[in-house]
Amino acid sequence: MVPKEISITIIGAGIGGLTCAIALQKLGYRIKVFEQADELKEIGAGLTIPPNARRAIKHLGFEKEVIQASYKPHKAAIKDYFSGKTLEEIKINPKRDSCNQNQSKDSPIFGTLQIHRADFQSILLNNILKKDPNSILLNHEFTNFTIHNGSLVCHFKNNTSFKTDALIACDGNKSLVRESINGNDKLNYLGYVAWRGLISASDIPSDLIQPDTATFVGKEKIFARYKIRSGQLINYVGFSKKNDWKNESWSVQSSIEELLSEFGDSADEIKTLIRKTQPNQCYKWALAGREPVKKWSTENLTLLGDAAHPMLPFLGQGAAMAIEDAVILARFFLKEKNIKDAFTRYEQNRIDRTTMVMHSAELNGLKLSGASYTNFIKEKKVYTEEEVAEYNPVEAAL
Ligand SMILES: Cc1cc2nc3c(=O)[nH]c(=O)nc-3n(C[C@H](O)[C@H](O)[C@H](O)COP(=O)(O)OP(=O)(O)OC[C@H]3O[C@@H](n4cnc5c(N)ncnc54)[C@H](O)[C@@H]3O)c2cc1C
Repeated sequence: MVPKEISITIIGAGIGGLTCAIALQKLGYRIKVFEQADELKEIGAGLTIPPNARRAIKHLGFEKEVIQASYKPHKAAIKDYFSGKTLEEIKINPKRDSCNQNQSKDSPIFGTLQIHRADFQSILLNNILKKDPNSILLNHEFTNFTIHNGSLVCHFKNNTSFKTDALIACDGNKSLVRESINGNDKLNYLGYVAWRGLISASDIPSDLIQPDTATFVGKEKIFARYKIRSGQLINYVGFSKKNDWKNESWSVQSSIEELLSEFGDSADEIKTLIRKTQPNQCYKWALAGREPVKKWSTENLTLLGDAAHPMLPFLGQGAAMAIEDAVILARFFLKEKNIKDAFTRYEQNRIDRTTMVMHSAELNGLKLSGASYTNFIKEKKVYTEEEVAEYNPVEAAL
């Protein structure tokens, strides 16, 4: 085991950083998480927790809390974006409340949960602060690191510095730390703009939301809606292919009018949902990413989550990959004797899987938006949705 006395610094208190803190605290390590924001808040939106992430959450000990705060979907439909007609239906949680493998062959996403991001974040935070109330430091924007006598010293914009034995960069897809390892691998606009909104379920006739989860597919447009917070809220995300993104910020507030104009050609069900959006709960994002890289680590530094493998959201697996990373990294902390070996083995273990999930998400985006994908499949190695969801980070061979 990597000695428990070492100090570990995590940059970024997103889903990746917080889950990693829980996984390492569970083994008895002292963690400090540095976050640039002065308050931890998730902009209102939903998160799908697929079975592979749920197995990790169960292992980390907070599955019950997550189940309580989530909505368990029964059925998912693929519908036509223009007419609203159902094209296909899949059972998700037919009867049982588990994500154990071999229990059902009904669906690769059997056991999936849907949760409000803010609810998930507060579960993660409570679990960390319960163990160490001083482990999260807000208002600390990491700027760079230097090396003194073999130790890393992290520097922050507020003119503070912190010496550490190991640095885990969970600073998202704009990761500064990643650039320090891989040079100028730029963040690119990936050709889709996403609008997210929230609606109170009580504002919608219940027979409109049938089945409880649906993805509408059409040429250059994708619209997904699902329930969260025990079904009290409906979360949606609409995607539109766009050649460029002119805003300087990657995410900005949007409006119902803008959504109605962007998705004006959609089925009535979509337009009804948009009209009922809570006006202050409507945001748009430019989807951005980087090419997969083969190097995440140096001697005492590694990347985790979107910092390591930013991906398109068309498989609902980005946060799930960060959660898997955290469990696998902790398993290598148990297995190896020093940080360097733990980071190297973690990187070797994770790069192929996360690269294939990145490609699979990209492929799903092409399929769902009606683009041609034959060449993509010939050129890139991809997983099926089943292969992504069946993975068990707790028991997978290391
Ligand atoms: C539209 C959309 C829908 C999605 N739906 C799903 C889904 O259903 N299921 C799923 O699994 N995934 C989904 N994802 C992906 C998922 O949201 C991300 O993969 C996940 O949030 C990444 O977590 P992270 O912790 O790695 O990064 P982030 O969430 O980006 O967190 C990074 C943190 O680091 C902080 N930070 C950044 N720079 C610094 C710095 N210099 N110093 C200090 N702190 C810093 C940031 O403030 C932030 O708190 C979706 C993504 C999008 C865009």
